[in-house]
Amino acid sequence: MSKIKDNIISFKNKLPEAVKLVAVSKTHTAEMIKEAYSTGQRIFGENKVQEMIAKHDELKDFDISWHLIGHLQRNKVKYIAEFVDLIHSVDSLKLLKEINKQAINNSRTINCLLQFHIASEDTKFGLNFEEAADILQSEEYKKLTNVKIVGVMGMASFTEDEVQVRSEFSSLRNIYNKLKNDFFSGSNNFREISMGMSNDWEIAIDTGSTMIRVGSIIFGYRNCNL
Ligand SMILES: *Cc1c(COP(=O)(O)O)cnc(C)c1O
Repeated sequence: MSKIKDNIISFKNKLPEAVKLVAVSKTHTAEMIKEAYSTGQRIFGENKVQEMIAKHDELKDFDISWHLIGHLQRNKVKYIAEFVDLIHSVDSLKLLKEINKQAINNSRTINCLLQFHIASEDTKFGLNFEEAADILQSEEYKKLTNVKIVGVMGMASFTEDEVQVRSEFSSLRNIYNKLKNDFFSGSNNFREISMGMSNDWEIAIDTGSTMIRVGSIIFGYRNCNL
């Protein structure tokens, strides 16, 4: 059996059934995605719009759920609005409004996660609780008809310190719980906590992740840290 098939099958065996796996295929080829697909994997994550469009074109005949996991510029939303299944990286009202506009243009509703800044590093994008609350309370947000916020996303610090990673993931879970209580208590749509990557997925699941984004374990380690 191929290495990728092997990797994904044995990895999935370790996952609780309720946890969704986003196979992060960035920097890897469409051929490699097909191998993972052949094991039954359907959700694939990309962090760059250009790369996601190219692979989507190449894999048109495959029933793939495409997740955009990286930072998204407003002027690029139009390129993915036709097919993207979930955008993990919504970090402003302006972006959310643009996604709504492009969703309307394509007669779709686009699912989104609010991305939170939980790491100690200040290089990572994301909101804090107050900023998210401001968005959700705004009249502008309430008018958006074609976006659905289905949960939260965050990335922990890149560190060996498990205590720190655990506390960062717990803070995301707490944010999720508070948002659920304050803004989404009547809705079943708001249910995802996207956290955990190849180096910290176990801690993420331990602290309440419903969706992990894993690349290296499945496809092998990338040359550069993209
Ligand atoms: C690259 C990336 C991942 C996956 O990283 P691995 O360490 O290869 O599992 C997850 N989430 C985001 C946002 C990424 O950019």
